[in-house]
Amino acid sequence: MNNCVFCKIINGEILSYKIYEDQYTYAFLDISKDIDGHTLVIPKKHYENILDCDNTYSKYLMETVSLISKHYVKNCKYDGINLLNASGKAAQQSINHFHIHIIPRLKDDKENVWPKLSGSKNKIEYMYEKLKIGENNEKVWKIDRDGTNIK
Ligand code: ZN
Repeated sequence: MNNCVFCKIINGEILSYKIYEDQYTYAFLDISKDIDGHTLVIPKKHYENILDCDNTYSKYLMETVSLISKHYVKNCKYDGINLLNASGKAAQQSINHFHIHIIPRLKDDKENVWPKLSGSKNKIEYMYEKLKIGENNEKVWKIDRDGTNIK
């Protein structure tokens, strides 16, 4: 974690163009210069990605993503927002500190950030049976909507 570039940004060891900060989250401009306004939102505690992130941090991260997205459209004259995330090597994650990309969009920007995928290989009924969260599924977690605990 000491070598994590995003932790260094949070700690001020690397300067960044900070858009927003609170107790749990930090947002700054991506310096890749691939599109105007490309923003990264990260938890202030080091988590690799959504798969190991504490649910409280995940919740606050998404609230910050929502806040910034609304700000960009309401106050900064953008017309829409794309959200991107990669969690895990298989998902092409490159920096191992959980981050969500905000890509602000203009109605006539002619960008295409929607991925071209290779096509499904299984019937949707098979995928439904494989993926649904059911009573007998060991992977079930229950979300307590009145609190932040997840069992
Ligand atoms: Zn980190």
